Amino acid sequence: FSENIAGKVVLITGASSGIGEHLAYEYASRGACLALVARREDQLRDVVEQARDIGSPDVLMIIGDVSKVEDCKRIIDETMDYFGRLDHLVNNAGISSVSMFEEITNITAFRALMDTNFWGSVYTTRFAVPHLRNSRGKIVVLSSSASWLPTPRMSIYNASKAALFMMFETLRVELGPDINITIVTPGFIEFELTQGKFLDREGKMMFDPDLRYDQISAVPVRTVRACAKAIVNSALRGQRYLTNPPWFKVT
Ligand code: NDP
Repeated sequence: FSENIAGKVVLITGASSGIGEHLAYEYASRGACLALVARREDQLRDVVEQARDIGSPDVLMIIGDVSKVEDCKRIIDETMDYFGRLDHLVNNAGISSVSMFEEITNITAFRALMDTNFWGSVYTTRFAVPHLRNSRGKIVVLSSSASWLPTPRMSIYNASKAALFMMFETLRVELGPDINITIVTPGFIEFELTQGKFLDREGKMMFDPDLRYDQISAVPVRTVRACAKAIVNSALRGQRYLTNPPWFKVT
């Protein structure tokens, strides 16, 4: 069974680039109304226009910073004021940072990773839950294969994604069956967040292929469009998990 999302309301955080941008296009192509959130106004405006062209009946642009609790409340309030309902919440906004732990000098700057990746999703979800209960809606959360792969130079990012994973595993128990939760744990996808950041000076992936998780040496790099399509399909079918590697299913 796959839900018909046409005319329903989907809120996507971090929609100005990467996976979030392509999730907007994917939902738009299926006729969903969209509330799109990010901090960069110019980029987000372009995505809003494209989503309308692709077929979304109505798109609301919300400039907001999910690391701030007051913005998360406003994001949900504006969506409800405008559309009067919420059917899917996609917690996608995230930032990364790459540094060996011992080389981190400004340690407090790393709080931003938790503030955005973890707390941003928690705050937004808390304000959205009453409305999602009313619509018997769905939550999609972008965790990562970083939840279980101890990739060097990404300790705090990995920790933020592992925290998200368990947070939403637990919420599944509390909120189900009214609200379905799909936890997405992608491997590396091509776009802004990953571009260049994981390559060494010779352009090779910087992970040590001898790490005990042998998947690391075989990480498939998927296109962002294929990733977005797979995520929307999983959400509409009410799947609990979508993951790669090595089981990422692109349909
Ligand atoms: P991008 O950097 O391309 O996009 C991140 C998005 O999040 C942007 O739209 C950015 O917009 C938004 N964002 C960042 N911080 C905030 C904030 N404080 N408030 C609101 N919006 C914010 O990243 P990806 O598309 O690569 O990643 C999307 C998600 O997928 C992330 O959660 C990431 O951790 C996860 N992921 C990515 C993988 C990959 O290979 N790329 C693999 C596994 C998981 P703006 O700057 O305009 O606010």
